[in-house]
This record gives sequence, C-alpha cells and structure tokens, in this order.
Amino acid sequence: MSAQPTRITHLIGHQPWPGVAERTSPVFNPATGEQTGVLDLASAALVDEVVDQASVAAKLWGRTSLTRRARVLFAFRELLNQHKQEIAELITAEHGKVTSDALGEVTRGLEVVEFACGIPHLLKGGYSENVSTKVDAYSILQPLGVVGVISPFNFPAMVPMWFVPIAIACGNAVVLKPSEKDPSAVNAIAELWARAGLPHHVLNVVHGDKEAVDALLDNPTVKAVSFVGSTPIAQYVYERGTSAGKRVQALGGAKNHMLVLGDADLDLAADAAVSAGYGSAGERCMAISVVVALEGIADDLVAKIAERTRTLRTGDGSKGCDMGPVITSQARDRIAGYIDAGVGAGASLVVDGRQDAFDGGPDGYFVGPTLFDHVGTDMSIYLDEIFGPVLSVVRVSSFDEGLALINASPYGNGTAIFTNDGGAARRFQTEVEVGMIGINVPVPVPMAFYSFGGWKASLFGDSHAHGIEGVHFFTRTKAVTQRWLDPSHGGLQLGFPQNT
Ligand code: NAD
Repeated sequence: MSAQPTRITHLIGHQPWPGVAERTSPVFNPATGEQTGVLDLASAALVDEVVDQASVAAKLWGRTSLTRRARVLFAFRELLNQHKQEIAELITAEHGKVTSDALGEVTRGLEVVEFACGIPHLLKGGYSENVSTKVDAYSILQPLGVVGVISPFNFPAMVPMWFVPIAIACGNAVVLKPSEKDPSAVNAIAELWARAGLPHHVLNVVHGDKEAVDALLDNPTVKAVSFVGSTPIAQYVYERGTSAGKRVQALGGAKNHMLVLGDADLDLAADAAVSAGYGSAGERCMAISVVVALEGIADDLVAKIAERTRTLRTGDGSKGCDMGPVITSQARDRIAGYIDAGVGAGASLVVDGRQDAFDGGPDGYFVGPTLFDHVGTDMSIYLDEIFGPVLSVVRVSSFDEGLALINASPYGNGTAIFTNDGGAARRFQTEVEVGMIGINVPVPVPMAFYSFGGWKASLFGDSHAHGIEGVHFFTRTKAVTQRWLDPSHGGLQLGFPQNT
C-alpha cells in the first residue's frame, strides 16, 4: 500500500506556514504515477501578507554591510555543496530526471551562488575625481526592495538559483514561487539559507498557481519580477507586470536547432544530438529539438543518431537509467499526440518511443526517445515546442538555407553548429539571431559570470539572467555629483551646469 501524501507548505520567515490552505495541489512521482505530496496553494491575501513582511526585512538587509551579506552567501554555498546529493534526489522524486542530471542542475545553481559570493566586487560603482574643478562624481548601486521570482518545473533548483542568490546578495528580499509540480527541492534549499544565517523574511517561499503569480505581479511593493516558463505565460507575466510599473524579465520557451555541416565529425555530432535531444527527457529549454543536416551527410548522421538512440534505457531516474519519465500523464499524452501528428503529416519515424519497454513503474509517465527524419517545416513537430524526447531532422541543401531556417524561427533561445570550418562557425555566430550559441557544444548554457537569456519569443524584457546583467536587474543606480564647500564656488549660476 502506498504511503499517505506528505503535506508541503510555504516557508515564510524560515518557518513552515501554520495555516490551513483553502486550495491544494497534488504532487506526483512521475516514475511511478504515485501521489507523494499535497501542496498548499497560496491565496492572493497570503502573498500580500508575505510581501509586507519581506518589505520590512528588505529595509534592514539592504543596509547590512556587504561583508556580512557575502558571509551568508559563503555559508550557504558550503551548505548547498554538502547537501547537493539529497537535493538531487528530491528533484528526481518529483521531476523524474535521472539523479546524475539532477545533481548537474544543482551544481550549475551552485555556480551562480559562487558568482554572487563576489558581491562586494560586483556592486562597486564608478568614481571620477575632479569632473569639474573640485567636483567629484560617482555611482552607487542600491537594492530594489522586494522582488518576486517565479520558476518552472523543469529545473526546480537551478532556475530559482539563477536569480535568488544574486537578488539576495544585492540586498533585496525575495518572494519565490516555485512550480507547483515539483516544489520540495526549493523548500530544502530555503532551509539551507536559514541555516546559513540569512535573516528572517529575506527569502520567503510561497507555493501556488496563477492566483499567487497575479498577486505578485499586481502588488506595488514588489519592484521586480523574474519569471521563467512557457512563452504564452512569459508574455502574459511581462505585460501584466510592466503595466503595474515593475521591472520584469520573463524567459520563455524554445525550439533549438543544431546545424550539422558537411565537414563535421559525424560521430561527435550524433553523440551531441542524442545527449542534447533526450537528456532530461527533452524537458530542457536548451534541449536540441531540431537537427538541421546538410543533404550530403544526412543519411549517415541519421543512421548514427538512430543507432545511439536505440541504446538508451528509459525508466525510473533514481535507478540508473539514461532517461527518466516526463513530468505528468498529460505531458506524456501530449507528446504521444505530437508523434501521431508527425506520422500523419508524412515525416519518417525512425525510432518510435511509444513502442519502448520502460524500466519503471507501470503507471509512470514514460515516452521513449523518438527520432523523425524528413521533417517538413510546416509540421507541428517542427513548429511547436514539444518539450519531450522527440528529435526532428530537417534536411537542407546549404549553410545559407540552414541559417535562414534558424533565423525564421519565432524562438531564439539556443542553437549550435557542428563543423570543423572556423570561417563557417564565425559567420554563424555573427548572423544567427539567437541568444546563446554553441560551436561544437550542443547545450551552450552560459557560465554564471556570463548572462543567460534568449532572443525573440524566448525572452520578454531587456535583462538576461545572472552574470552582470543579473546584478543590474536587481539594483538601481544612482549617480552622485559632490562638491565640498569652498568659497571659490560662491555666486549665482542660473545656466545649465557645465564642467570647468
Ligand atoms: P509554465 O509556463 O507552465 O509555468 C511556469 C510558472 O508559471 C510556474 O511557476 C507556474 O505555476 C506559473 N503559471 C502557470 N500557468 C500560469 C498562468 N496561467 N498565469 C500565471 N502563472 C502561471 O512552464 P512549465 O511547464 O513549468 O515549464 C516549461 C516551460 O518553461 C517550457 O516552455 C520551457 O522552454 C520554459 N523554460 C524556459 C527557460 C528559459 O530560460 N528560457 C528555462 C526553463 C524553462
């Protein structure tokens, strides 16, 4: 008999919320289909209450010295490093991705924490002495106050950590609303922040759905919102949040292409396509979902991808498989629907993931890795973000045709080129209209000290995540012009100030 689902609730002021939720949401283990949790969903009134508490905390935290803030970050970094395996296991239990992959996402989040540990350096403004005679000018970066972070299901630990450590390091208080599908990793991470000595209410976790998101977007005390999710919701969040006068960065969906030129090492390209197409069951915003192959090498490349795809074992991510389940039964059925649609539209189904035997529970949400060749650019499997383990091969006759295809996509998150031709790679890097580019690297997620973000329908707003853009997103700049009184500066001067 299965165990009773565990209650999962908000963490406010480092404490589990003592109230009784009007609405809850079930949390499942996607590898077994078993309901493991019942999640409290925040009402708008609760979100507003938490924002008020965060606002008080933000005032004190924003005035806490940089050295003290950095010490909390260093302590948190150590704790996160010590507990990363447990957090990875929590991710696998609710998201389904294999534990080694979950550990990878925690490590990428940890890198952002390490970047944020350098906050005393990152918040240095500029100083110019004697800009006018005996006048100095300098700039300072100040926190915003309360900021909101709203994250998706597919990276339950890493995506919140793209924003939260930097927002906190900059002196803000954060209200974090994770995905309702896999909320436990965030709670475990928030407990580590408490142990690291972060003052109460500087980080608050409220679980919820649209009601909580709307409350954050509408609350005037929340000065900025970082959102990551699907494109329609990202656009909605951007429009509603900016209409309410906030700063918003809303990262959306993707359809990432990998262009393979005729001179590429086809074994390496096939390894890359399989790893980037099926890692995390294709539920990555940087997954490769389209391989664009030059006609001359397409047959060989497809054969090599198919051979590798057939070796993959799909099953329970906690038991050492290559690929875990997808997030929900609805996602599984939607993906299977796309495979049906691809077959119906006339694409060649080379590997059919619907046929696989799975190494997991009979009620798990499994779809095996699926490969289509001869995919047309009018087919739904090409056009839509499937967000599952379905890789499409589109054949082109030239580099220019491949580049034009990528640039015609409404999305611009990530892309990759596989070639040994430096000139072609350089031209690709210059002309492709995509935010993150891999040259013989299939999943080019930037390091923490660069910024992460796509173009076009993959990002609404001006700022990318983390790196120096993250620091700027979570601060406001003041420029100060200073002069210490000196008799030589007396006298009226009604003209516009000029430097002398
Ligand atoms: P989603 O858009 O369904 O949910 C994202 C967040 O929005 C969640 O916290 C959810 O509770 C909330 N939400 C859902 N519906 C809402 C509504 N109607 N109004 C307000 N808020 C709502 O996305 P998901 O399924 O959790 O995540 C997968 C998507 O995220 C994919 O499209 C993927 O490409 C995208 N993603 C993008 C990036 C990126 O960096 N561009 C990174 C990770 C994921």
